[in-house]
Amino acid sequence: MLATGMTMPLGRRVSRAAHAVSVPHGSILPGAAPVSQVLHPAMLAEDRAPRARRLRLASVNVASDPWFTRRRVDDRTWHLSEQHVHPFARCNVWVVHGRIRSMLVDSGLGVVRLSTEAADLFDRPLAAVATHSHWDHVGSFHEFAQRYAHPESARYLESAAAIGGALRRTGFAPETWQYFIDSGYVLEDELLSALPTPDFDVDAYSVAPCPANHQIDEGDVIDLGDVAYEVLHLPGHSPDSIGLFDRAGGVLFSGDAVYDGPLLEGCYEGGPEAYVATMQRLRDLPVRVVHGGHEPSFGRDRLIEICDTFLTRVT
Ligand SMILES: [Zn+2]
Repeated sequence: MLATGMTMPLGRRVSRAAHAVSVPHGSILPGAAPVSQVLHPAMLAEDRAPRARRLRLASVNVASDPWFTRRRVDDRTWHLSEQHVHPFARCNVWVVHGRIRSMLVDSGLGVVRLSTEAADLFDRPLAAVATHSHWDHVGSFHEFAQRYAHPESARYLESAAAIGGALRRTGFAPETWQYFIDSGYVLEDELLSALPTPDFDVDAYSVAPCPANHQIDEGDVIDLGDVAYEVLHLPGHSPDSIGLFDRAGGVLFSGDAVYDGPLLEGCYEGGPEAYVATMQRLRDLPVRVVHGGHEPSFGRDRLIEICDTFLTRVT
């Protein structure tokens, strides 16, 4: 998931057939404007102006169960997921417990307080990491005191307008929404199938500014005591995309650099070259399991398939 608007023709749009695979994610906008244009606040205002009448659809119920489902992945890792969010906007949230501190990888939409909902998982010092600055990954980032992100995230995380994001069709520029559909998504007008609270205002949604106070880049290490994660800079999906790699255990948290769904390049200026290099690098990485930013986790054989499919299509 990415932006709420775009300004340029989709000149380099990839045909739907080229990336119509299993469960689409469509996180980026081929041929779209550079992100400075994509996220320009004036565009958001223009797009939102017609929505003076605030809709509360009768079909949107209020959630009666926990907002986040949780699943234990292994003896140190939890997976959390926003069950009432359309897969298009539902990122994977990971909590990793180490001996001396824990690590949070991405934080969801921020429509409820993750730090409260999953308070029992945050019972020790925590490094909260954003794999990149897209709104569906940083919604609760501001709730955590120690925030880690790539330096390229800084220009986005400093303001709600730069982060962008919306919870229904009318919050997106029409051509952006159409692009998501053309990419293979089956989208209805609403991205939430239930409201978190009866008084939740879908149209008032925005992501709180959440500037990182720790910048992390290629080669840095997040050490949890008995496990350590190398930071890999994996540009392509976005300039600030990073992965977190436990080389000893072969575990990679890949954010949206790679996941088991359509991978789209061309969201940002400069073409897919950076993404090609990232996929070539990922292909050779000695991973045992990849926990992506969306969709189910997968192993090395599937990683190679995904990388090869991408590289065949793009190069
Ligand atoms: Zn993304």
